[in-house]
Amino acid sequence: MQSYELLADSFLFGHGNFIVGLQRKRKNNTIFMTVGLSKYSFFETVEYNFDKAAAFTGFDAGILEQIKACNSVYQMKFPVRMGQNLDRVEVFEAYRVQHSHHKTPCKGGIRFSMDVNQDEVMALASLMTYKCAIVNVPFGGGKGGIKVDPKKYTPLELERITRRYAAELVKKNFIGPGIDVPAPDYGSGEREMGWIADTYLAMKPGDVDGLGCVTGKPIAQGGVRGRREATGLGVFYGTRELCNQADLMQKLGLTSGIEGKTVVVQGLGNVGYHSAKFFREGGAKVIAIAEYEGAIMNPEGLDEEAVFQHRKSTGSILNFPGATNLEKSSEALELACDILIPAALENVITETNAPNIKAKIIAEAANGPVTVEADEILNSKGIVVIPDIYLNAGGVTVSYFEWLKNLSHVRYGRMEKRFTENMNSQIVQQIENMTGRSMETGHRSMIVHGPDEVDLIYSGLEETMISSLHDLLNTMRENPGIDSMRTAAFVLAIKKVGVAYKELGIFP
Ligand code: NAD
Repeated sequence: MQSYELLADSFLFGHGNFIVGLQRKRKNNTIFMTVGLSKYSFFETVEYNFDKAAAFTGFDAGILEQIKACNSVYQMKFPVRMGQNLDRVEVFEAYRVQHSHHKTPCKGGIRFSMDVNQDEVMALASLMTYKCAIVNVPFGGGKGGIKVDPKKYTPLELERITRRYAAELVKKNFIGPGIDVPAPDYGSGEREMGWIADTYLAMKPGDVDGLGCVTGKPIAQGGVRGRREATGLGVFYGTRELCNQADLMQKLGLTSGIEGKTVVVQGLGNVGYHSAKFFREGGAKVIAIAEYEGAIMNPEGLDEEAVFQHRKSTGSILNFPGATNLEKSSEALELACDILIPAALENVITETNAPNIKAKIIAEAANGPVTVEADEILNSKGIVVIPDIYLNAGGVTVSYFEWLKNLSHVRYGRMEKRFTENMNSQIVQQIENMTGRSMETGHRSMIVHGPDEVDLIYSGLEETMISSLHDLLNTMRENPGIDSMRTAAFVLAIKKVGVAYKELGIFP
């Protein structure tokens, strides 16, 4: 049994180009390989970053302990009939963790991956609490995971697994618009969220707010326009705002703005694809893209959609016309560039490769891509790391907008679009009358245009990412002892969650 576990976990951590460790350690029902990645498990990494920041908050030990703890951990195993004739049963391991109930509902994605384990889900749920606090989304943190390799199953089999998982959550009261609201994460997307919503509604008939039980749904099932690209767009807005800080850019030897910056993206999934898209559209050059089978590079820039189509048709990112193949996917992380965007999984920048990182800015699109040891190395090299708990919060921000849409039962823009257009038309008409000149058609339609749902979502997201970045920068200015944006982000988050707990009256 022991050797079986060791073998299983060696494979698990050997995924992609991760370095397989040598030492075993049991924590939160998970065996960790500790050499090569980090001596901290993922959850311990979050705790480490929390403790480092806690010293700047002025809260006493009791409240800090409560903020840090995971309130509820639900580990489940359930059987699902498999195969075309449903003549085979497989038992799946899955989790839902609610890290904090200081605000409800809890909120966080569901990961579909063979790497899913309790420690990882606890870490991701904790990050969600801090993330929501930073961007002023009134939710507690949650996260879910199913230990499954989605590529190994047919859509029908995946549907059965997802629906059974959702049913388990309903049975234990771990899902609901006022309880806990899942969303997509690594390995899951709109389709899975649609199955979850449908399962919930079937088990809770008449729940008028039932569609708010999950976000990231297809539009036709109560989703909101802009959710699909929200995390990548948030990564872009946040990084762009940092790049607009002339003093910071000067320290890094960079010019202000996104225009002309060189970018490397790891992971061409939902977050990586959309990050690449918005950086390219914003005037940056995406010079390399890495997937787990390899990486490609072109100093003239890559078009993410063409790369995506190439990967779809050939089954690999490699041999993309005009680009150079990199033998090892992880080599891309060490390329000279202005901005490195890890958008795949955790623990990809470790003490082993951190000394070789040449990027000036690391934009953490993925959750937990940098280990504790690597963080210190990057910091000492003067590399600015924009932390995950701020930078990838675009997803949960737009999930919040989707949840509000579901509770209000009305599409954004429905009430005001026509009214705004009529008002704007009258203003333009008045200006034309007064000046005696007609406005050029293109300008006229731009000014008159009333907001569609997607316009309002983008605008709400942009405002959130910009104002939260300035909250982080102000926290750093007010506390000169803080040495990184990550610590500033944790300080900001702990203070907000702590105040909410104090308002509950439990703590002195
Ligand atoms: P996804 O499944 O859509 O895409 C992930 C991609 O990374 C896949 O294409 C996969 O093949 C690739 N990948 C895996 N290992 C790799 C490796 N070692 N090297 C290069 N590529 C590798 O997942 P996603 O939703 O884009 O999530 C990516 C990350 O962003 C995760 O850490 C997730 O928790 C985080 N995140 C996602 C969202 C969201 O809205 N989806 C929100 C916040 C944070």
